[in-house]
Amino acid sequence: MATLQLKHITKSFGETDVIKGVDLEVKDREFVVFVGPSGCGKSTLMRMIAGLESATSGDILIDGQRMNEVGPADRGLAMVFQSYALYPHMTVEDNMGFSMRLAGVPKEKRREKVLEAARILELEPLLDRKPKALSGGQRQRVAIGRAIVRKPSIFLFDEPLSNLDAALRVQMRIELARLHEELDATMIYVTHDQIEAMTMADKIVVLQGGEIEQVGSPMELYHHPRNRFVAGFIGSPK
Ligand code: ADP
Ligand code: MG
Repeated sequence: MATLQLKHITKSFGETDVIKGVDLEVKDREFVVFVGPSGCGKSTLMRMIAGLESATSGDILIDGQRMNEVGPADRGLAMVFQSYALYPHMTVEDNMGFSMRLAGVPKEKRREKVLEAARILELEPLLDRKPKALSGGQRQRVAIGRAIVRKPSIFLFDEPLSNLDAALRVQMRIELARLHEELDATMIYVTHDQIEAMTMADKIVVLQGGEIEQVGSPMELYHHPRNRFVAGFIGSPK
């Protein structure tokens, strides 16, 4: 079970206010998609949720617990980035088990968890390969596998498919939806792909200039965009 609450989060880099007071409630097992133009603060918000960046003000709560002073490793979440750097000299299995190795999980236990994630992602035949012997889509699946083995209750995806070609993106989208079902996790997903947002989201959060323009289900935003900006982003006719 994992809910997330953002309570009037702000973030400034020096004089620049990048996030200007974001309030948001994410329910347990919800699939929430952040959309908005480049530079509107999507990644900064994700990094604050992950604990990789501290908020200038405001509170972040997971399951009602204040997370502001809790480090990234102890928040029960895992993040998958656009640039999913895998360790080139390690096999797929070792890449996926690396965080557990750092945490001192014994080898047998690591293998068990890696095999389970590999089954979900259909990576079993590739476990002995090195990253350079994988396609882009397979590498991205390994990156997702690395996140799965940690059994997070919240997954954060920051434009995870934007380096993949269109056909592969469609396939990965279906796989992520299946993953969401199978893992029973809360997912927060950043994209600038309108189709991804419309097809994957329970709830879409439209951001502009560090603020939320509108929050709603894909159909709510499509049929009742609050303004032209939202309509333009969602692709509704208004
Ligand atoms: P998005 O992911 O929506 O494209 P970002 O969150 O990456 O946007 O960036 C939002 C704004 O914050 C941008 O104007 C960016 O230049 C600025 N920014 C992000 N990180 C830093 C940083 N470490 N120092 C200064 N400015 C930053
Ligand atoms: Mg970004």
